[in-house]
Amino acid sequence: MSAVVRRGASGAAALVVLVLSTALLAACSDDPGAVRSQPSAASSVSETPDGSASLPAETDDPPDPDDPERDPALSEPVEDSVYPDVGDPSVDALHYDLDLAWTPGTRTLEGVATIELRSPADGDHLQLDLGEPLTPSEVTLDGEDVPFEHTGKDLVVSAPVEEGERYVLEVHYSGTPQPTPAPTTRSDFSTSGWTITPEGETWTMQEPYGAFTWYPVNDQPSDKAYYDISVTVPSPWVGIANGEMVDQSEADGLTTTSWHLSSPTSSYLVTVATGAYTRTSNTSSSGLEISYWVPSDRPALADGLTYAAQGLDWLEARLGPYPFDSLGFLLVDSQSGMETQTMITLGATDYSTSPAVLVHEMAHQWYGDEVTPDDWRDVWMNEGMAMYLQGCWQAEADGRSVDAVMDEYASFEPAMRAENGPPADYDPATFGEGNIYYGPALMWHELRKRIGDDAFWKVVKDWPGRDPETNSNRDEYLDWLVDRTHVDRSFFEGWLLSPTTPARS
Ligand SMILES: [Zn+2]
Repeated sequence: MSAVVRRGASGAAALVVLVLSTALLAACSDDPGAVRSQPSAASSVSETPDGSASLPAETDDPPDPDDPERDPALSEPVEDSVYPDVGDPSVDALHYDLDLAWTPGTRTLEGVATIELRSPADGDHLQLDLGEPLTPSEVTLDGEDVPFEHTGKDLVVSAPVEEGERYVLEVHYSGTPQPTPAPTTRSDFSTSGWTITPEGETWTMQEPYGAFTWYPVNDQPSDKAYYDISVTVPSPWVGIANGEMVDQSEADGLTTTSWHLSSPTSSYLVTVATGAYTRTSNTSSSGLEISYWVPSDRPALADGLTYAAQGLDWLEARLGPYPFDSLGFLLVDSQSGMETQTMITLGATDYSTSPAVLVHEMAHQWYGDEVTPDDWRDVWMNEGMAMYLQGCWQAEADGRSVDAVMDEYASFEPAMRAENGPPADYDPATFGEGNIYYGPALMWHELRKRIGDDAFWKVVKDWPGRDPETNSNRDEYLDWLVDRTHVDRSFFEGWLLSPTTPARS
């Protein structure tokens, strides 16, 4: 997630970002990699279309959860230490096939979720999260009706399950989704999950949780899974989701788009939006086409996003090849920005669409998406490195030293740590505050000074690909860092766990 824009000391940093973004946009206005329009997407203004969306007839073959192609999605689900009420280790989801129909006029979502999963233990039930406003009408396990209870957001399916066995759970549901209160004091969001605009368009950001507001899910980051998402909306609106659009069809005044994500992901990195959108694209030096989905009535918003191609070049020079096979940006009616896997979701604000934030969210594709914390305790693993890379980029763009940017971070970091707790032991009610960003970023810079540039950048590059598309945690990461750098564990633990800021060199 992008760092929150604050008043006071860090507000000054945000101002620098804004001023700089203007300069960069001016500088690259005649960039040869300029945006090309694509004719395939809807191109009307955002008036609420008439029409009632219903799900297309099911044509998929029954899935085979034992297919070895699902094996990279095998996880060791855990109960979250910070938010234990969300997610449940009784389910290891492997693949979510979500068929969604959204009727903007009545604010109705109709869904069929076909979930391939592994049972991590012998038991008599499977538990998923599903928002209370949504009503499940039918639940089957391997094609047989099974009893279920839906209490609050807990969907508990009763069935004998065996350790290591794989099953197909299908849930039919409908209702008007409501976002859930977010455990945060940030100024740029207070709820998470499925969000409906006054015109009936929808979008979602859902860190640390909130995917359950629109589909049945094990909504905890340790349980990565593959996704195929189809969205049906009244034409000319379209639905956009993670990965690549593999099909777009129109029938009876409805448009259905189908999206395939070819890498396993955690539920907080899933995105879906509906509305009138126009797609443009450009290409990075490494040949990756980057798509930009912007509201059709504000096409100029795409101009500011084209810097992503250069930003990706900058990141690939430091982190190695981009870890996934597609990349896009999706602009929505939010004040924040999220590193949703392969399809980054940004609020249409000056800050959220600034080059610095584009770099930040793309850095997360390595740090957060390719390697993901298995517990919200360790969100610093994502934000510390994304903020450090953003700071290095900022220094270069400003013609300043990285030391100068770190001095700026250090001017406000102690107050954030004092207010919200150490980066790896934060107050659960203040998720995503500056303490998880700036302290770990300072730690990385101190490590760089200790071990030198070459060793430092090798560590930065090697970690995400060490065991790609999986999860990790503080204990594993620190073991690896100590082994690789020969820097004492107490150095890292001081930066991550001390209530006061360690001395800088
Ligand atoms: Zn972030």
